[in-house]
Amino acid sequence: MSETIIPYKIYLDESEMPTKWYNMRADMKNKPAPLLNPATLEPMTVEELSGVFCHELAKQEVDDTTPYIEIPEEIRKFYKMYRPSPLVRAYCLEEKLQTPAKIYYKFEGNNTSGSHKLNSAIAQAYYAKKQGLKGVTTETGAGQWGTALSMACAYFDLDCKVYMVKVSYEQKPFRREVMRTYGASVTPSPSDTTEVGKKILKEHPGTTGSLGCAISEAVEAAVGTEGYRYVLGSVLNQVLLHQSVIGLETKAALDKYNIVPDIIIGCAGGGSNLGGLISPFMGEKLKGEKNYRIIAVEPASCPSFTRGKFAYDFCDTGKVCPLAKMYTLGSGFIPSANHAGGLRYHGMSSTLSQLYDDGLMEAVSVEQTAVFEAATQFARVEGILPAPESSHAIRVAIDEALKCKETGEEKTIVFGLTGTGYFDMVAYQKYNDGEMSDYIPTDEDLKPGFDSLPNVNR
Ligand SMILES: *Cc1c(COP(=O)(O)O)cnc(C)c1O
Repeated sequence: MSETIIPYKIYLDESEMPTKWYNMRADMKNKPAPLLNPATLEPMTVEELSGVFCHELAKQEVDDTTPYIEIPEEIRKFYKMYRPSPLVRAYCLEEKLQTPAKIYYKFEGNNTSGSHKLNSAIAQAYYAKKQGLKGVTTETGAGQWGTALSMACAYFDLDCKVYMVKVSYEQKPFRREVMRTYGASVTPSPSDTTEVGKKILKEHPGTTGSLGCAISEAVEAAVGTEGYRYVLGSVLNQVLLHQSVIGLETKAALDKYNIVPDIIIGCAGGGSNLGGLISPFMGEKLKGEKNYRIIAVEPASCPSFTRGKFAYDFCDTGKVCPLAKMYTLGSGFIPSANHAGGLRYHGMSSTLSQLYDDGLMEAVSVEQTAVFEAATQFARVEGILPAPESSHAIRVAIDEALKCKETGEEKTIVFGLTGTGYFDMVAYQKYNDGEMSDYIPTDEDLKPGFDSLPNVNR
């Protein structure tokens, strides 16, 4: 019998692209806990959420019963400009590692935003436009989300106001200019354009900002401006839903060659790429049809899954957002200053948090020098210069492949390569100069974050 030869890249035809997103919450027995109104501590209704988010997105946020949701034609058209993304067989990496494992990665970096975030940005901009809004506000840290949203808003002719964490605004001027080129206005956060920004500046003069703080400013700007809503690039259920396109394409590509993965690996910041990548596989697992090992990888310096608490917490520093039940380090947590690898959000998607708590997936944390070592090794054999975030998944994929080398097992490993790292060269420079260090927070370091958790009995 001749063995089927798997190509370096498995592409799908346009006609094989998904026409529906998959909502894995519909197949979860234990549903993720609802968002709570911070004032009443009651679950947020669609009506309440619609004050902050676009109406259709608010509906998606609370929908935990509809398994498949139609991808509107306009969004599918946009997807076709940069999708399907390739599923690559990492033959060169396998050879370099001398492993019997078969390694595949789904590459989401082939668009100007450089990451998977465009998959949800275009959906969110579409629903905002359809609702007749003038524009949207958001925050961005490293800038990938802000860039993706700027591109999506330009496409639908919507105004886009981005609050960019001040340290990134200053250190990543090129990111900022990409956003402005797509027509967005970019404000360094904290700023004096919002009440919460002024308050934070007064309490912490000279602060270089944080994601949680930029979220508070963006929400305030949306709620206070007629015809605007707030959009978020990760963590939320709606974002995982849109990102299911990653997993659906991956599954379709694997099915074409009858490949069944043993291990699926993704990096986890707020959980959107991982949630999207695993969704159809987790769906089979939830229905008892298949079993897969699913591994979330997070930085040792921001270990929400591996050292966090599963509790209701604030999503932002200013405490203006709804409360989410999630694995969290507390909204007051800020990773140590030497952390360069992204994935610095204090919490985690409540859907993934529930799945993790139910033992349906694993999590590991890795140190940043090991992450950059894997990134460098990958770049040199596979050609792509990976984003530091994505490189967390590369690290664990390599580790699992090396285990196979010891045991002789021919496991099939699939990981998400979420983006490229061209705007992260300062971090690469540190690594190349041997100046990158690791810092694992002590229990003492984590305590203030945990102490900042609200007391919610639910
Ligand atoms: C934002 C981002 C991530 C992390 O976000 P998730 O919501 O956890 O997916 C990972 N990789 C890249 C390239 C990103 O831009």
